[in-house]
Amino acid sequence: MRNNIVHIGAGELTYEIRAIVEIAEKLQKLGIKTNMENIGDPVAKGEKIPLWMKEIVADLAMKDCSYGYCATKGLLETRQFLAEMTNRRGKAQITPDDIIFFNGLGDAIQKVYGLLRREARVIGPSPTYSTHSSGEAAHAGQKPVCYRLDPDNNWYPDLDDLRLSVKYNPAISGILIINPDNPTGAVYPERILKEIVAIAREYDLFLICDEIYQNLVFNGQATKPISDLIGDVPAISMKGISKELPWPGARCGWIEVYNADKDPVFKRYIQSIVDSKMVEVCSTTLPQKAIPRIMSHPEYPVYLEERKSRYERCSNIAYRILKEVPGVMVNRTNGAFYMSVAFKEDTLTHDQTLPIDNREVRALVEGLVSQPGVSLDKRFVYYLLASTGICVVPLSSFFTPQRGFRIT
Ligand code: PLP
Repeated sequence: MRNNIVHIGAGELTYEIRAIVEIAEKLQKLGIKTNMENIGDPVAKGEKIPLWMKEIVADLAMKDCSYGYCATKGLLETRQFLAEMTNRRGKAQITPDDIIFFNGLGDAIQKVYGLLRREARVIGPSPTYSTHSSGEAAHAGQKPVCYRLDPDNNWYPDLDDLRLSVKYNPAISGILIINPDNPTGAVYPERILKEIVAIAREYDLFLICDEIYQNLVFNGQATKPISDLIGDVPAISMKGISKELPWPGARCGWIEVYNADKDPVFKRYIQSIVDSKMVEVCSTTLPQKAIPRIMSHPEYPVYLEERKSRYERCSNIAYRILKEVPGVMVNRTNGAFYMSVAFKEDTLTHDQTLPIDNREVRALVEGLVSQPGVSLDKRFVYYLLASTGICVVPLSSFFTPQRGFRIT
């Protein structure tokens, strides 16, 4: 096989959130009872979909014409509904034309980076939701470019680091923000968002703001969608229903584009995203049809509030327990459903051993950790899984040198 068919090395596109499941399954076969805290799927975690929501979906499936293709960018009525929601805030104003649907936000992320010029880089947070960094790195055929999130400051972006990286790397064309953040659960205050917008404006960059968790903020915190703050900066907001409704199996997400007309290069880029969507035909129709009906249902805000208070309770319990553990750093989380637990420098050492006797389990786990390149936090995660059944994800797989783990 010719060697030029791939431009990133095998194994470089990692998604540990799912890779760890294969190991958990092997351990299950050896009798280990697992508790899967690795993936942000509320439905898999037992979230009950309310009857009124199921009835909307069933009604559409029975009576409606959601069985055909829809428009390239998505159903017009849904894009109208979503554009009005944004416009009602009285800041950025968009039309349905500024919205493009995808088969899940993960799909949108791959397409959005995939259509950038190879030499144009988007700087993203570290740690980051790995789909972003691996998608961005794959398009460039290089390692991701990152700015630091600071565990000593609520995992907020280190703005000096961001500013310096942007200043000295002319390849950077855009900045990615994830707010509320995965994997840290941080919710960014308005002042941080404004500073990032100011950096984008100063260096003539566009913004990508992943806002899939925007309506899952708790602990009395508040944040703003980026559309409220961008002014004339070109930006893309990424949204979806996997977490909020929650309906991850629908594979339905969308982007909203702001200020495309303000910059001809950005406009061409957005057009290339639309063109590629046309080649693909369109995205899943039924969930698009359901969105306005679900989001405008009188029970919807009640249901969201109830879930948020549950997430708040769980996250505060996790925080109270973990902050007492020696050797780790945790922050209270205020949104989404993740917590990043960071190890202090000398918490993990090479001489730690697996605290169990089962020979088969030992053989499996020791075989895994003896492979080259296994980080100390990955080893910790395997040991934790084998000895307690708790399945979490090593922090190092979220593109950070910081060792630790992410728990849902
Ligand atoms: N963006 C973030 C920050 C996420 O956490 C996730 C899923 O975990 C996604 C995007 C992908 O969502 P979807 O299920 O719509 O592909």
